[in-house]
Amino acid sequence: MDISVNLAGRRVLVVGHARQARHTIARCVASGARVYLADDGAHQDSRAIESVVRVIVPSNRLEWKTLVSSVDLVISVGVVPATTEALERATREARIWLTTEPPSPTLPIGRVTLVGGGPGDGQLLTVAALAALREADVVFFDRLGPIARLAEWAPGAELVNVGKTPGHHAVNQTEIQELLVEASLSGKTVVRLKGGDPFVFGRGGEEVLACSRAGVPVTVVSGVTSAIAVPGAAGIPVTHREISKLFTVVSGHVPLSESELLHLAGLGGTIVVLMGVGTLPHLTAGLARAGMSASMPVAVVEKGFSASQRTTRATLGDIAPLASRLGVGSPAVVVFGEVVRLSEQLDVTAATFLQDAAAELTID
Ligand code: SAH
Repeated sequence: MDISVNLAGRRVLVVGHARQARHTIARCVASGARVYLADDGAHQDSRAIESVVRVIVPSNRLEWKTLVSSVDLVISVGVVPATTEALERATREARIWLTTEPPSPTLPIGRVTLVGGGPGDGQLLTVAALAALREADVVFFDRLGPIARLAEWAPGAELVNVGKTPGHHAVNQTEIQELLVEASLSGKTVVRLKGGDPFVFGRGGEEVLACSRAGVPVTVVSGVTSAIAVPGAAGIPVTHREISKLFTVVSGHVPLSESELLHLAGLGGTIVVLMGVGTLPHLTAGLARAGMSASMPVAVVEKGFSASQRTTRATLGDIAPLASRLGVGSPAVVVFGEVVRLSEQLDVTAATFLQDAAAELTID
């Protein structure tokens, strides 16, 4: 069983080598604890050392007893069996909690984890995504990922924005890949946090290739993709029995060719378009030319899972001028298909709002 303890203002003794305990130390410090480090090895991690109140080099059993008696919690990280025994005895005698955490990797070559962060709401991060962030030395992120609580999720990490920021150019794709490779080759545990799923218009494949070519081990953590979740948050299921048995996810970044439009309109089912706000007039005109009925329902869902989520519903014939009149902007997901009608009947509450409601339930 895992239980949470509020460490604010508490004294925590971390026992282990600084480098292996760096994430444990970072998490304790981020929780407001006063951290003491008992390290009998070389102190190789300057960041970890700087954040602790004091580094102690314990020399004998008696000293363990004195040390543990003066703190509220002891955390042992990757220590040898003899030290574990001494700690267990000392904490038992002093009636102080002892817990263990796995050591963080200290390899000559680090690793890269490509993390799909979902459509922006922290509630839709996966357990694997949170675990990867917890263990990261550096996180490369951009504005499409869920970043509001990044410092809390990755307390031990340097956070590097590789997206567009006001007054700064975005780091280009080649440079991002170089940064990932460089950081991991220097032994760091690297997370590349992306919006949605890394392999859905996320250039994740290119990043995996770049890492593999450089001999860097790379893992991919799938994310909740906006292609399904954002329509879902607006009450639009991308498939529905007897209404739509297929859905096609299309990038609207570059206008589609006539032949693509023809095939797309001929498929039936649901069409989901990402990055499609700019090309909406071209797309709607093209689908109409390709034979799609002017009365086909269309929805544009902007800023899914945020407080300003907005759904604009119309038909193939009306949506482009309406979207322009209403100032519809990115990020947005466009949905073409009969399933759009269902949103009038399906009263869906996005996960984020459910979570808020749950948080209001308290026991007096
Ligand atoms: N890998 C991402 C997609 C990256 S392309 C994924 O799987 O979701 C970026 C596009 O995704 C945006 O232009 C928009 O069309 C869509 N998108 C991402 N997050 C969104 C959100 N919260 N609300 C609406 N659209 C979103």
